[in-house]
Amino acid sequence: MTSKERKVALITGITGQDGSYLAEFLLEKDYEVHGIIRRASSFNTGRIQHLYADPKSHRQEKMKLHWGDMTDSSSLVKVISTVQPTEIYNLAAQSHVKVSFDLSEYTGEVDGIGTVRLLDAIRTCGLEKIVKFYQASTSELFGGKDSSIPQNENTPFYPRSPYACAKIYSYWIVVNYREAYGLYACNGILFNHESPRRGENFVTRKITRSIAKIHLGAQDVLELGNLNALRDWGHAKDYVKAMWMMLQQEVAEDYVIATGESHSVREFVETAFNHVGTTIVWEGEGINETGKNKETGEILVRVNPKYFRPTEVYTLLGDATKAKKKFGWEPSVSFEELVKDMMESDLALMRKDPTA
Ligand code: NDP
Ligand code: GDP
Repeated sequence: MTSKERKVALITGITGQDGSYLAEFLLEKDYEVHGIIRRASSFNTGRIQHLYADPKSHRQEKMKLHWGDMTDSSSLVKVISTVQPTEIYNLAAQSHVKVSFDLSEYTGEVDGIGTVRLLDAIRTCGLEKIVKFYQASTSELFGGKDSSIPQNENTPFYPRSPYACAKIYSYWIVVNYREAYGLYACNGILFNHESPRRGENFVTRKITRSIAKIHLGAQDVLELGNLNALRDWGHAKDYVKAMWMMLQQEVAEDYVIATGESHSVREFVETAFNHVGTTIVWEGEGINETGKNKETGEILVRVNPKYFRPTEVYTLLGDATKAKKKFGWEPSVSFEELVKDMMESDLALMRKDPTA
C-alpha cells in the first residue's frame, strides 16, 4: 500500500472530549487510529472505553494506545517513528482557562512547547512531507478586551489567559513550520464545543450535571461565576468532522469553526432548567444575583466570585464562512438541541448514581 493510500491517524489527547469523538469518526472512515495516553493514578480512558469493547476497533487492532506525554520529547519521537502516521491531530492540552492562571508554567509547557516538540518529532522521523498536521487552536486567541465581532480568520488576536498565550505560541509555530518546511499543517480555530462528554468543570457541563442533581434532590444550589459571558457553543461531534475536513484539502490553511450564534451563561442555565420544567427568575445584581424557582421562590442559582477570572473573555461569536465556502462545513446541532442532549445524558447518569 502506498503512503497515499494508508490512512493512519495519531491523536494526542485521545482520552479527552474531542479525542474520543474524533477516534470514533476516523474508525468509521476505516482509519487505523493510534492515541497517546499519559500515565495517571486512576483510569483516564473512560471516554474511549466503548471502543475497546467494539470488536471492529480494538479486537481487529484498528485502535492502539501508546504511552506518551506532551512534556516528553523522546516519547513523541518513539510513537511517531513506530506508528508512521499519515495524519496527526494535536488535541492534547491543559484545556481549562481558569486553571491556567494557577498552572501557568505547566500550561505553557504542554499547550505551547508541547506543540513544537511534536512538530520537531515529525521532522526527526523524516515525515514532514508525508504527515498532515492538525492543531487544536481556539477562539480564546481572540479574547480581546473589546475584540470586534463576529470573529473570523482576520480578526486580530488578544489573548486573555495563560492558556490563550500558550495556544497563541502553538498557532504561530504551526504557521511557521508550514512556511519554513512545507509541512501540511492547519490551525482549527474552534469556538467552544460541548457534549455529554465535556469535562465536568467547564461551565456547560457543570450546569447540566448540577441541574440534573437539583432536579433529583441530590443538590440544593448551583454556584457560578460570570453569568453574562457570551459564548458561541456548538456540538463536539460537528467540530471533530471539521478537523478531518481541514486535512483533506489540497492546500493547508487555518479555519474558524463556529455556529455563528452566541448565548450567555445565564441563557444556558435558563434553557437547561426549562428542560426539567423549572422556570428561573433572576434577582439582585453582580455578586448578589440569584436565580430563583419562579413557582416556589427557592434559590437555585447563586453567584460565587471564586469562579471569576483575573481577566475574562466576555464575548465570543464566530464567523465560519471560510470553512463553509472551502469545504462545505456547517454545524448540524442547534443551541437548544445541544442543551437537551447534555441534560438528557446527565439526568440518565444521575438517576443511576446521584453521587457521580
Ligand atoms: P479535554 O480537556 O477534554 O482533553 C484534553 C486531552 O489532553 C486529554 O486527553 C488529556 O489527557 C490530554 N492531555 C493533557 N495534558 C497532557 C499531557 N501533558 N500529555 C499528553 N496528553 C495530555 O479537551 P477537549 O477535548 O475539550 O479539547 C481538545 C483540544 O481542543 C484541546 O487542545 C483544547 O484546548 C482545544 N480546544 C477545545 C475547545 C472546546 O470547546 N472543547 C475549544 C477550542 C480549542 P487526560 O485524559 O489524561 O487528562
Ligand atoms: P472557556 O470559554 O474555555 O473559558 O470555557 P468555560 O466553560 O470554562 O467558561 C465559559 C464562560 O463561563 C467563561 O466566561 C466563564 O467565566 C463563565 N463561567 C461562569 N461561571 C463559571 C463556572 O462556574 N465555571 C466555569 N468553568 N466557567 C464559568
